[in-house]
Amino acid sequence: MTIHEISCKSILNKSGISVIDYALNPYTGCEHGCRYCYAVFMKRFSGHKEEWGSFVDVKINAPEVLRKQLKKAKPGLISFSTVTDPYQPLEEKYEITRKCLEALVDYDFSVSILTKSHLVLRDIDLLKELKEVDVGFSVAIMDEKIRIHFEPKSSTTEKRFEALAQLSKEGIETWLFFAPVFPYFSDSTKNIEELFINASRTNVGSILIDTLQLYPKVWSKIQKMLHRFYPEVLPHYKQYLLHKDLYKKELKSKVLKVAREHNIPCDFAF
Ligand code: SF4
Repeated sequence: MTIHEISCKSILNKSGISVIDYALNPYTGCEHGCRYCYAVFMKRFSGHKEEWGSFVDVKINAPEVLRKQLKKAKPGLISFSTVTDPYQPLEEKYEITRKCLEALVDYDFSVSILTKSHLVLRDIDLLKELKEVDVGFSVAIMDEKIRIHFEPKSSTTEKRFEALAQLSKEGIETWLFFAPVFPYFSDSTKNIEELFINASRTNVGSILIDTLQLYPKVWSKIQKMLHRFYPEVLPHYKQYLLHKDLYKKELKSKVLKVAREHNIPCDFAF
């Protein structure tokens, strides 16, 4: 893992995503190195040639830059996780996310955190002090032996559910991001049911579901991994690429059927 401490000029950046006002990414790169990570395009902007997941730039001055920007910025919704995981393992040492949250306590911004790491529990004290906050965990594959091939370094699914339960218990708004839904590995009724059963035990507020986007770089990485570990599954992905609309329609009705049984509000991003 190559780690660089860098200085940033700006950390609170206007977001191109319609539902959020600002993106705040304390790191460039992500140690979790998920095989399907959409943020791989960041290599183009940061000049990194290494494999995604093998480098992280730590924005060492982010908290002080944020404090300056907050004095002038119009309050709005900040997402902490558009192209990195704010609670990847390095955060334990650097505490950049934590220090940014500390800066936000004195302001009227809403904060949304999406992570795959139980390390977020460390900051419950600060999360409780924010004006408005929600924490989401992404979970896609319930079978741990399969999940590890897609997400080699993030917290186990069990730990993510434990963290969700703890956050809900502490009165923090939580949500589950069932995404990306992987053809064959995530879309079976068994996987969906297991996910909803675990979610209902955590008292999660809602579930958002999204399908897999096979951008060329993402597809080439997934293809490589499937070739190596699950060659028999490749035809499912080729079918998915050809019939995405039909796939989405069928997935929606399958998920809605399970959701009705568990009475958890759910929404679809597709
Ligand atoms: S945790 Fe998120 S940002 Fe990090 S590699 Fe995985 S998908 Fe990408």
